[in-house]
Amino acid sequence: MVKSEPIPFAVGDVVRLKKPHPCGGLDWSVVRLGADIGVKCQTCGRRVLLPRRDLERRLRLFVARPPESDDRLASVDPPSGAGADGESGPRMNPNPP
Ligand SMILES: [Zn+2]
Repeated sequence: MVKSEPIPFAVGDVVRLKKPHPCGGLDWSVVRLGADIGVKCQTCGRRVLLPRRDLERRLRLFVARPPESDDRLASVDPPSGAGADGESGPRMNPNPP
């Protein structure tokens, strides 16, 4: 486990913790950020405030993350223009006078 790296939680994330809630739920959605992070049990709906460190330690995996927080968008930048030789017709350019 990487311990030194802070985990960037965001509101809307759904996380799975190592220890299940007494209700049996494992998945929690992040509802509040701050010194403490508010998480809501996906199974029973109970809200709990956990210190960030505590949550990081209990975190098992991210179940879902909202698309907004995904800044690792694959920047596919197709080279346009250069070398686009689509029209290979008779386009001879007789030297103008
Ligand atoms: Zn619960």
